Amino acid sequence: MPRRRLLPLLLATIAPPLVAAQREAPDLIVLNATIYTLDSALPRAQALAVKDGRFILVGSNAQVDAIAGPQTERLEAGGRVIIPGMIDAHAHLPNLGRILRTVDLRGTTSYEEVIALVKRRSEELMTKTWIVGRGWDQNDWDSREFPTHQALSAAVPRNPVYLERVDGHAALANAMALQLAGVDRRTEDPDGGKIIRDADGNPTGTLIDEARLLVASAIPPVSKRQLEAQIQAGMREANRWGLTGIHDAGVGADTVELYEELAARGQLTLRFYVMVEAGSPGLLELLGHGPRIAMGDHMVWTRAVKVSADGAMGSRGAALLRDYHDDPGNRGLMLADYDSVLTIARLALENGFQLNVHAIGDRANRSVLDAYQEALSEYPGRDHRFRIEHAQLLAPDDIPRFAQLGVIPSMQGSHQTSDMYWVADRLGRPRLEGAYAWRSLRETGVIIPNGSDFPVEAVNPLISFHAFVTRQDADGWPEGGWFPEQRLDREDALESITVWPAYAAFMENEVGSISVGKLADFVVLDRDIMTVPPEEILGTRVLRTVVGGRSVYLAQ
Ligand SMILES: [Zn+2]
Repeated sequence: MPRRRLLPLLLATIAPPLVAAQREAPDLIVLNATIYTLDSALPRAQALAVKDGRFILVGSNAQVDAIAGPQTERLEAGGRVIIPGMIDAHAHLPNLGRILRTVDLRGTTSYEEVIALVKRRSEELMTKTWIVGRGWDQNDWDSREFPTHQALSAAVPRNPVYLERVDGHAALANAMALQLAGVDRRTEDPDGGKIIRDADGNPTGTLIDEARLLVASAIPPVSKRQLEAQIQAGMREANRWGLTGIHDAGVGADTVELYEELAARGQLTLRFYVMVEAGSPGLLELLGHGPRIAMGDHMVWTRAVKVSADGAMGSRGAALLRDYHDDPGNRGLMLADYDSVLTIARLALENGFQLNVHAIGDRANRSVLDAYQEALSEYPGRDHRFRIEHAQLLAPDDIPRFAQLGVIPSMQGSHQTSDMYWVADRLGRPRLEGAYAWRSLRETGVIIPNGSDFPVEAVNPLISFHAFVTRQDADGWPEGGWFPEQRLDREDALESITVWPAYAAFMENEVGSISVGKLADFVVLDRDIMTVPPEEILGTRVLRTVVGGRSVYLAQ
């Protein structure tokens, strides 16, 4: 059939829903807002309308008001700022959930307080479910002695309890935990560990170093129900900070299945772009089936593989081209070498998947770029959007290679502001020119999707927005910014948490901007982050988070 015939036919199938949607009244309209749409066709607007989870009109108050019907929900924004839903391009949601579900004992000032917190958690749980806590420190208590389990065991008799001390080198277990782990007066101290005992030789519940594992190893792996609860807790926290989507940087195929299951039940309040961990079982099967797009009514996308090429700078595990400045002879560690990255890159290209490799040191970054270059030369013309996660330290020669290869540097503003206090010790001053080199990269033409790497860093995406703009911590240190020539402007910083992550996930037609036809994800803020003085950015409060037209968070 000649092309000319097809076109009207295509238009006929595409056009009606849009027209129909506009003829029908919207489900929701928002009026009197200051909207940064991030859509170049109409950068600023006053009002928007949502129908069936998508924006159907963005424009003036009069235009939007004119299409409202009697059933339409009306939201009066009172001049507040609205931006597209924020997307964290590198985060770990199940880990965040696990921490949120762990009893947080930091800052407790007595054993009684610790017991009360654990008791409260036990009231939400079924009998025999393990309770894990973290953060107690007997040096903050009056007695300053290691606790003994009796008071805890009396208060929480029906759940096994395992509480790590703040430094992770000691733990307190209650009677049921000791019993389930088979730890009693006959248990010998393991190598490198000590069971604290009373005068009769009975364990007091406090376990030092390797002795902790006697009980810790008895804690069953998280059940599906627990993982679900962790995901729910993580999503609530993410929504609270204005996130409508995240790129989950490395989960197993089983977690993908669970995300899709929750999505199918309508229980997700956050859109997931999933990177599947390279070592996880089920990866090959998943790759073989091809990308999984917009599953569960546009909540879960799975089309990326995550590999770690090296470690981190803080522990001197990042692979460097030259020695650590503060540890001569040490150049860090490669976890996935050139050949492994090349192999998995071919596999990804073959199956239509993106590859996202964690590389922090300059040696790891070079090795990954080399492997990408080789693989991409074998599959020319692919829309691959391969990424390097972190890209923290780059040799000057490697900076232009991202743009040349079409590789996306996925970076985290908050890593720069967390690391700047000590990273000069690790690297020495001259190498810092290529550290967190946002501006240098940007000038080569690449986009830099921004992320938090939570729970390594805090969830609030505006911390990384602020870092991109200032290269300063929350206290405004250092004055003028750390290597301020690498700052980005606010327009770029706003794109780094909206449209750039959308593009880096092949989702630019669905999310990232407030555009007619896109999914209705947006956030109402209490101030204008594009115009307030930089030191006021971090005080911003999210007033409302909307995913697909549904409010998933509302400030009290
Ligand atoms: Zn990470």
